[in-house]
Amino acid sequence: MIPYGRQDISQADIDAVVAVLRSDFLTQGPMVPRFEQAVAAHCGVPHAVAVNSATSALHIACLALGLGPGDWLWTSPITFVASANCALYCGAQVDFIDIDPRSYNLCPQALERKLIHAQREGRLPKIVVPVHLAGQPCELAAIHALAQKYGFRIIEDASHAIGGKYRDEPIGNCRYSDITVFSFHPVKIITTAEGGIALTRSAELAHKMALLRSHGITRDPAQMTEEPHGAWYYQQIALGYNYRMTELQAALGLSQMQRLTQYVARRHELARRYDEQLSALPVTVPWQHPDGYSGLHLYVIRLQLGRIGKSHRQVFNALREQGIGVNLHYIPVYTQPHYRALGCVQDACPQADAYYAEAISLPMYATLSEAQQDEVIAALRRALG
Ligand SMILES: *Cc1c(COP(=O)(O)O)cnc(C)c1O
Repeated sequence: MIPYGRQDISQADIDAVVAVLRSDFLTQGPMVPRFEQAVAAHCGVPHAVAVNSATSALHIACLALGLGPGDWLWTSPITFVASANCALYCGAQVDFIDIDPRSYNLCPQALERKLIHAQREGRLPKIVVPVHLAGQPCELAAIHALAQKYGFRIIEDASHAIGGKYRDEPIGNCRYSDITVFSFHPVKIITTAEGGIALTRSAELAHKMALLRSHGITRDPAQMTEEPHGAWYYQQIALGYNYRMTELQAALGLSQMQRLTQYVARRHELARRYDEQLSALPVTVPWQHPDGYSGLHLYVIRLQLGRIGKSHRQVFNALREQGIGVNLHYIPVYTQPHYRALGCVQDACPQADAYYAEAISLPMYATLSEAQQDEVIAALRRALG
């Protein structure tokens, strides 16, 4: 089976992890700060808080921005459920903005229409979470302008987009957002096995997130309500969690960071080959907005079903039967039973529904060989009939 995505582990990665195993600290040692500094330096952002998953990063990002009961968070329906679940963890409510039919990212025009309506109803969102689907940056400047006008905060779910750029600057620099989150799950661009990070320009937000990642406990006397009782003393000043990243994970991530640029460049080579070789087939290849340089986590095609004598499911199954581990990113979140039960309306996002009826993610990862890619293309040709 050729999977849709997979990690690449080098001898240097293994050596880095083994060195941590033999060291004094398996957790709460020097590697996590080093990894945080490496990611922050790559992105040109002053603060980074590494955690055990992007899901945790989204949760503490929402908490740091003060999301709570009675508040709304809006996001794209074409995303992993974690982009929306973070609001539910905080007792807030979720609504969805339809996607742009070309980029498949949250559509700024749809966002503006929804904001105008929400303002009249007195239900403006506190947070909007643009998701850089497949690694392609959202139209951040337009979304940021709306944030200024309507007073919401922005968390970029950049789980797919490390190594990408928007208007020639790295995704993660938070020029147009309050916080940016990356995921380091093994299918993503670089991995720490499980892991995530939250980046911000705000020292205050970084401080809140660092507190929330470790039980809400501080050892800094300046933040305590009274003088420390002794060298053992700490205070819990908020309700936090154990969302810490381990030293093993950070060492792996630090080692992987050295290959980030190379990985993304390779993904672009593979995407160019797909673009060329699929151009004669009845499929729509990914469109790239001129303002962005995609991280290319995913390569999503859409079937032109009117030109194919088969259904979406038949083509998908025919690929799987030929050993191609295609996938579908994503099922619109509002169709999930948990969200249906919360009263989300299914026909509110026609572009998202249309996308879901046609999309297939083809294999895309840095170590995919050209021979394997040719196998994928041949299998797709056969599957289309
Ligand atoms: C993978 C992913 C997440 C969750 O990441 P974890 O690190 O697995 O928690 C969130 N949002 C999107 C868009 C993702 O692809």
